[in-house]
Amino acid sequence: MKKDIKNFTLEELKGYFKEKNLPLYCAAQIFGWIYSKRIEDFNLMTDIAKDVRVLLLENFYFSKLKIENREISSDKTEKLLFGLSDGAAIESVLIPEPERATLCLSSQVGCKYSCKFCSSGSRGLKRNLTPAEIINQYLAISDLTRKKITNIVFMGIGEPLDNFENVVKAIKIFVQPKGLNLSASRISVSTCGVIPQIEELLRRKLGVKLSVSLHSADSDIRSKIMPVNVKYPLVELIKTLKKSGKNEKYPITFEYALFGSLNTGKLAAQQLIRLLKGMNCKINLIPYNATQGIFKEPTKTEVEEFCSELKNAGLFYTLRKSRGQDIHAACGQLYALWK
Ligand code: SAH
Repeated sequence: MKKDIKNFTLEELKGYFKEKNLPLYCAAQIFGWIYSKRIEDFNLMTDIAKDVRVLLLENFYFSKLKIENREISSDKTEKLLFGLSDGAAIESVLIPEPERATLCLSSQVGCKYSCKFCSSGSRGLKRNLTPAEIINQYLAISDLTRKKITNIVFMGIGEPLDNFENVVKAIKIFVQPKGLNLSASRISVSTCGVIPQIEELLRRKLGVKLSVSLHSADSDIRSKIMPVNVKYPLVELIKTLKKSGKNEKYPITFEYALFGSLNTGKLAAQQLIRLLKGMNCKINLIPYNATQGIFKEPTKTEVEEFCSELKNAGLFYTLRKSRGQDIHAACGQLYALWK
């Protein structure tokens, strides 16, 4: 059976070439054709020997995502709906800013963690994306928009650390100089807090940034809104991050969605300050984006009060401006129906 060539990291492709007794430098050339020259036809790879091309044609194919829908928000955020070969669907979001363009990628079809405020997991998990399906989101959007994508965040549909090896392979292709040549420091992996995989990710030393979706410093509240907290409780999560994250070059980012009358107010802020004391971290506050469910958007006063508590405690925080709400492209609003 033919293999999808974009599932291969450069090392893996070299391994394949070694097995077949072919020159290893061809693997790097092929990477250059695909990712730098954007050619997806072995016949056009003119500096590769004919017999090697024939072997590639017989053994590999190029997968492509089908663009099912493209929506552009009034703030220029774009949301793409992609159809996959098995009828599944995913969404990706491109967020242009004056100095950069951030691409928000999906890592799975659906999600098994069922955070109560997030639409992406409302129907559970269907399957993991392949490395090629992750990379293809980037390629399709960069080919379509011709925009230079400067940053990647694994903050679309799915829990990236639940699809660990495929996400790691995709990262390796993104940062490979002969591949897409992005700096690892411009890639963020966001997790709801899957402790063993956080440890493994830090052990691999890929140089990517880590974001952790916290949303409450109160373990009971967190368990109610994020069932993952029952298996991997807050105290353990923070202990792991303090221990394994202490040698990280970049501070860990904590995402904290502000829900009206639930995790805002002075007490909640003080709890958060106590929890994160002494950690090299920053907090990304995200005013809740309405989805179906029981949650309320925070009032302006709630947001301001929370910010001023963090500021007074000397914690570094940013308040995320929600982008693309009019096309349901904001955090937690991604939801692609699959067959
Ligand atoms: N599964 C990973 C990747 C998703 S990232 C994770 O949980 O981190 C998407 C971010 O948006 C997460 O921080 C998530 O908790 C947050 N989010 C989900 N639904 C939201 C909503 N309705 N409003 C604001 N943020 C939301």
